[in-house]
Amino acid sequence: MPSPGKLHGQSPRHCRGKRSEMNQEHCPITEKTDLKNLTLPALEQFLRGQGKERFRATQVFKWIYQHDARSFQEMTNISKDLRAELEAKAYISNLEPEAVEVGGDGTRKYLFGLEDGNSVESVLIPDEGRNTLCISSQVGCAMGCAFCLTGTFSLTRNLTTAEIVNQIMAVRRDVEIRNIVMMGMGEPLHNLDNVIPAIHIMIDGNGLQLSNRRVTVSTCGLAPEMERLGRELPNVNLAVSLNATTDELRDRIMPINRRYPLKELLRACREFPLPGRRKVTFEYVMLGGVNDTLEDAKRLLRLTSDIPNKVNLIPFNEFQGCEFRSPTRAAIDAFHKYLIDRHVTVITRDSRGSDISAACGQLKGKLDAARQPTE
Ligand code: SAH
Ligand code: SF4
Repeated sequence: MPSPGKLHGQSPRHCRGKRSEMNQEHCPITEKTDLKNLTLPALEQFLRGQGKERFRATQVFKWIYQHDARSFQEMTNISKDLRAELEAKAYISNLEPEAVEVGGDGTRKYLFGLEDGNSVESVLIPDEGRNTLCISSQVGCAMGCAFCLTGTFSLTRNLTTAEIVNQIMAVRRDVEIRNIVMMGMGEPLHNLDNVIPAIHIMIDGNGLQLSNRRVTVSTCGLAPEMERLGRELPNVNLAVSLNATTDELRDRIMPINRRYPLKELLRACREFPLPGRRKVTFEYVMLGGVNDTLEDAKRLLRLTSDIPNKVNLIPFNEFQGCEFRSPTRAAIDAFHKYLIDRHVTVITRDSRGSDISAACGQLKGKLDAARQPTE
């Protein structure tokens, strides 16, 4: 995982907000509203407050998401007066990659500098006609999982709705994107107030027009927030980072388990309203000698057998200073075979061969699950 560091030598942007204020809809300096923080109903409300008709909101929304307008001047079917009014009260934020690294296998890692000098990454995994983009939801993460590089940095701040959506918009200028997975930096369910509007914009027919079947949210197991996600966005896909099959081990490697232990987490999975024949994805990071035995596989099967699921085995991606080791090939194969033989849908991705995956940490290895057909 990337470090939530500062970028140097950035060009001036619309404004440079104070970090503590970056969750707001407004630029803290100019007081203008960033329209990319608004869902279509919120934009309708914003324009209604300015005395404008409802259809104006749809027009502006389409300009932003379907025509990628970055200024009001481009909105040629809107009167000059309204454009000037919008200009005075609002702005349209944008992200440009500071750097793009391309791996030998075509994976592209985008580094984005944010208004306040922080940075985040998105990773594009190309696949003919089915490109998947892995996006970040926070700078850093508060969850402190022992095996995760992001977790060692703690949380710097939540990304705004606009910053989440802008990662997609920036990459979409290069390639078409079919799937979105929220498996980048951060815990999306720890930032639901900004993640839910961002997903609404992604799946809005006047917005980014992505199918809700192609959006996956990954969580370490915030049970009450899983329930809220299911209530507010019942059609998105859920991925849960299980990573351990006993409370004893999970308590140790994922501190969130002390608050929501396995029983509670699995109940939240069971109750998550997935439509049709869709399945919950259980991500399982294999830590050499820690959770990679057949006993673990057996327990994994037992714990999850009453939840429609598929399993994504992720060999641990080592990073400097970490206490864990990657599992052996033999351990991965035996674990995989144990589950396959018992009719579990499993995929294993060994990302160690990729030249840029070392830097992007865990991002790459987990994306195959999201690309698998879910029905
Ligand atoms: N916070 C969310 C989403 C981001 S982390 C979550 O935890 O689900 C996405 C995935 O990366 C998780 O499944 C996590 O278990 C995995 N992961 C974290 N560090 C890793 C590492 N060093 N190697 C392999 N996978 C890792
Ligand atoms: Fe945060 Fe997910 Fe990393 Fe845990 S695995 S520290 S929840 S990003």
